[in-house]
Amino acid sequence: MLGVTISAEFDGIKELSPEDDGDFQYEFTIQCTSCRETHKNNVIVSRNDAYELSKGRSAANFVFKCQFCGKEGSINIEKGPKPLKNDSKMPLTFLELDCRGCDITNYYPGNSSWRCTGESGQVFGDIDISEYEWYDYDEKANVEVSIVNIKFDIIKL
Ligand SMILES: [Zn+2]
Repeated sequence: MLGVTISAEFDGIKELSPEDDGDFQYEFTIQCTSCRETHKNNVIVSRNDAYELSKGRSAANFVFKCQFCGKEGSINIEKGPKPLKNDSKMPLTFLELDCRGCDITNYYPGNSSWRCTGESGQVFGDIDISEYEWYDYDEKANVEVSIVNIKFDIIKL
């Protein structure tokens, strides 16, 4: 199993999470575990997607065939996403994936929208953290709010 971790610095914000109703597009760079070649294009994995496998488990959220050695690989989201809270122990493993035949080497947060909640309770939807930082104004609390130093990492579980 592989985990995707997140850490960030919150100012006036108490929670951050992907806007994932099942269709959130998690974007990754992947590497074949047989030939160690990196897949040329980033791949998209969504919890609602189900692709058939040629053997073993019947379906996974993502299936690919290595362009270099022809081996099949698959990715299944097993757990998450878990929201990052201002009292979370960081980095937080927010997503757990079962990867077979491939390793995830990078995660990119820009493909779908995220959502956060201010300390005042104001919800900010449809936010873009592709630049690994975000700034806005909390009307309820009359303060500027921000999330900076957003970092993602891939770990073995
Ligand atoms: Zn390969």
